[in-house]
Amino acid sequence: MHELSIVKSIFDTLVENYEDKIKEVTKIEITAGLLSNVQPILIKNAFSAFVEENAKYKDIELEVKVKEIIAYCEKCSKPFDVQYHKFVCGDCDTPSSIIIQGTELHISQVYFRN
Ligand SMILES: [Zn+2]
Repeated sequence: MHELSIVKSIFDTLVENYEDKIKEVTKIEITAGLLSNVQPILIKNAFSAFVEENAKYKDIELEVKVKEIIAYCEKCSKPFDVQYHKFVCGDCDTPSSIIIQGTELHISQVYFRN
């Protein structure tokens, strides 16, 4: 299961970076681009299953921030929003394969208990 391995790697990263402070983590926010192949609902389900099996993490919440796809038009020298997976500049109709946002998948924020 693709999502579960993502959740595991999120926790591996946290353990690596925060070690003992991981006990104080209350919430993890991840940023997932629409091209990252991560479905928020599936990753949330995988997360719930993971924390259920790992009781020490059971109070940690997950928030998934979804990023829209933005491509870049070389002809107009400006970025444009990609909608419905149509990688064509709305101003000049030139197709573009330069993606500047939408493929990312990373931990964007970690919240700790005060
Ligand atoms: Zn253009």
